[in-house]
Amino acid sequence: MAVLRAVRQALAAAAVSRAKRRRLARALTDDQDLLTSGRPEGPRVVGEFVRTLLAHGSRRAVLPKCADCSRAGKLTSLRADGKRICPPCEERDVVLAAITSQPVITMSREAPKQCPRLRFPGMGGW
Ligand SMILES: [Zn+2]
Repeated sequence: MAVLRAVRQALAAAAVSRAKRRRLARALTDDQDLLTSGRPEGPRVVGEFVRTLLAHGSRRAVLPKCADCSRAGKLTSLRADGKRICPPCEERDVVLAAITSQPVITMSREAPKQCPRLRFPGMGGW
């Protein structure tokens, strides 16, 4: 009974809203190893639930590890493949994307012959 009480307390702490509890239940129904595998999969609430289970004395729960750096921190973001990553890895991805992407605005050597606002009726222009 003490274990059940600890699980209920951990659930109440990690999944405060009904929607979170529903997401957690769905994820654990689909993949029962999520609490012990350490895989960075499933909704964010899985990691929060594991963290509270460990705080309540669980020995079997394993924190999910970042899909990029393998650290067991808070995994707040998703990679394109659906695996969870930590904030520093997400920040690195954002910076890398900004560096490697094409510039949004290009400079033309010629001055425009017509005001770009004329494309939008009622906006005026020169
Ligand atoms: Zn990471």
